[in-house]
Amino acid sequence: MRKVGLPLILIKIDRMSAILSLNNIEKSYGKIKALKGVSFDVPEGSVFGILGPNGSGKTTLLSIVLDVLKPKEGKFLWFGQPPSPEQRKKIGSLLETPNFYHYLSAVDNLKITHNISGRGQKEDISEVLHKVKLFDRRNSRFSSYSLGMKQRLAIAAALLGSPRVLVLDEPTNGLDPVGIAEIRELIVELKEKGHTIIMASHLLDEVEKVCTHVAILKTGNLITTGKVADVLMDEDLVELSAQNLQQLAEILNGMSNKITIDEKNGVVQMTLPKGTSRLDEINRFCFNKGVVLNHMLLKKKRLEARFFELTNN
Ligand code: ATP
Repeated sequence: MRKVGLPLILIKIDRMSAILSLNNIEKSYGKIKALKGVSFDVPEGSVFGILGPNGSGKTTLLSIVLDVLKPKEGKFLWFGQPPSPEQRKKIGSLLETPNFYHYLSAVDNLKITHNISGRGQKEDISEVLHKVKLFDRRNSRFSSYSLGMKQRLAIAAALLGSPRVLVLDEPTNGLDPVGIAEIRELIVELKEKGHTIIMASHLLDEVEKVCTHVAILKTGNLITTGKVADVLMDEDLVELSAQNLQQLAEILNGMSNKITIDEKNGVVQMTLPKGTSRLDEINRFCFNKGVVLNHMLLKKKRLEARFFELTNN
């Protein structure tokens, strides 16, 4: 029998392993359902944004994975294992701003944090101060720091013990534009140094600039999750008009599954993936179906509109 040589197929597996897996997490405060069965995976090496408007359940979710709150239902795994004190040592967190002593220096404040938490070694203090770019100001009093520097010191405290993962709740909240820029830059640098970052944010712009992945929450429900580039992708919005809008909408259904009729402005809007709309083809398609267009315009759907659509439907 003749042997048939099978072609060698190389499949590149583009899947990072999950550092945190949430499975059907539910949490209530009395009658308020803060989380209603949330499941998603955080890939290792990502900057993972938990994005949602106020009250959507972000802080509750972070508190659960940090063992500050117990879920009513559901399970989560860190590094593929059920949570344990051993696992917890690999996770640095910043849920609320720590109380640093105003009259002490950064180094002395971190020595106190180290003594209380038992995380890392004393020698780590210089390393974390380098990481957050406060080494040159290590002996200055905390009270002399800008808001951005204070927040960077808080992140330095979370970095003691060299955790694989950093969990940050709204890390740029309350900062001025310079402080915000510093923290965002630091998060990207920490990712490059090998940390996985999980951060809550209510700012679309922040998630777009800093995060590689996102989970969008709304009133305790997971709306969507995935790579930022996929989830918050810009779209093409084509605006068209003809004598009979209903008929136009019906024939366009064959081209896109997102068609809306705007009676007030006398147009039909069709959404297509970014960069895929070909106006000449759409025109020909409509003409061949017996509809003559009297207006056609390509607009870009802005990310804000996409986010609004995701969190308001
Ligand atoms: P924000 O951005 O405003 O901090 P969030 O997305 O972090 O909001 P959570 O703080 O987790 O949302 O709140 C989710 C829901 O649970 C909200 O309706 C909130 O009012 C409610 N909630 C949170 N903590 C408590 C609590 N301790 N007692 C009662 N209700 C609470």
